[in-house]
Amino acid sequence: MSHMFIPGPVDVDPDVLQAQTKPMVPHRSADFEKIFRETEAKLKKVFLTETRVFQPPSSGTGMQEAGVRNLVQNDVLSCINGAFAERWYQVAISNGKQADRLDVPWGEAITPDLLADALKKKSYEAVTIVHNETSTGVESPIKELAAVVHDISPDTLILVDAVSSVGGVKIETDAWRIDFLLTSSQKCMALPPGMAFAAVSDRSLAKAETVKNRGWYFDLLRMEKHRVKDSTAMTPTMSLIWALDVQLDHMLKEGLENRYARHAAMASRVQSWSLDRGMEPLAAEGYRSRTVSTIKNTREMDIAELNKYLLTKGMRLSNGYGELKNKTFRIAHMGETQMHHIDELLEAIDAFLAKK
Ligand SMILES: *Cc1c(COP(=O)(O)O)cnc(C)c1O
Repeated sequence: MSHMFIPGPVDVDPDVLQAQTKPMVPHRSADFEKIFRETEAKLKKVFLTETRVFQPPSSGTGMQEAGVRNLVQNDVLSCINGAFAERWYQVAISNGKQADRLDVPWGEAITPDLLADALKKKSYEAVTIVHNETSTGVESPIKELAAVVHDISPDTLILVDAVSSVGGVKIETDAWRIDFLLTSSQKCMALPPGMAFAAVSDRSLAKAETVKNRGWYFDLLRMEKHRVKDSTAMTPTMSLIWALDVQLDHMLKEGLENRYARHAAMASRVQSWSLDRGMEPLAAEGYRSRTVSTIKNTREMDIAELNKYLLTKGMRLSNGYGELKNKTFRIAHMGETQMHHIDELLEAIDAFLAKK
């Protein structure tokens, strides 16, 4: 077996990789537009929305930029509980937005009470929230957070980064009225890197009409103008679209509910294994990610040595992120990873621990 347990890029199924070798066609052609229309229709199912899903060339970070640049003129509240949430804040201020920070320590979730307090103090055009903090393995309760925003500040748009969770954890875009939900191709969607996807509400597009300096490349209104013609303003990532088409078929064939259950089962297997070994997940119970487990390295394993050992068996995991390096390690269980992969990985880590 050869398998990666790093939180992106993840392993891609061979037939999805193979789909990328299909010959090019003109992108202004009925052939291409047909596939582009079909991938959007399937993406809508995965995003649980009937509105629209953009499929631009970009990684996820580009959609963080598109979100703040199109949907905020001045004031945005950045909820920050890890590296990717911090990045979204940096993206906002780099684009000249007035971003206020709602900070909690890394390893904790953003809670509805904290968000409610912040929204009562000041009115914001939008809030940015990372659903699944890949750096810390923390999942924030996005349904409850969205409800708080609708309740306290109904005009505030809800922008959610779900790069490492879309397709693996249920996020009901329409039912929870999330205005902007973004992801990348290379994480829970199990595609090669290079594309981003974003579900965008009608309310968001109406707001964008009023926002100045939306830029060109990520102007949501320009994207919409082309989307309705099953196209993009620029050249699309054609090979990745072929791969996307096949991967979305895999996802829908497995069934979204089955997919969510598989991710939850792998998370609970990894997390109970780590607790049995005296190593706690960084996140508190109730906030533990279902797609990536960040585990405290209380057994003081040499993570670099561990990875060398795992590589002899064709596997690898991730060290902790930034400050959390060596203090934690991360096991991703997302995309096409199956329980038998997890079993083999945990067995190998046990063998490594026994050698110490
Ligand atoms: C990986 C990641 C990003 C950055 O995505 P890119 O595709 O690398 O730009 C943003 N947010 C989260 C939660 C991530 O896991």
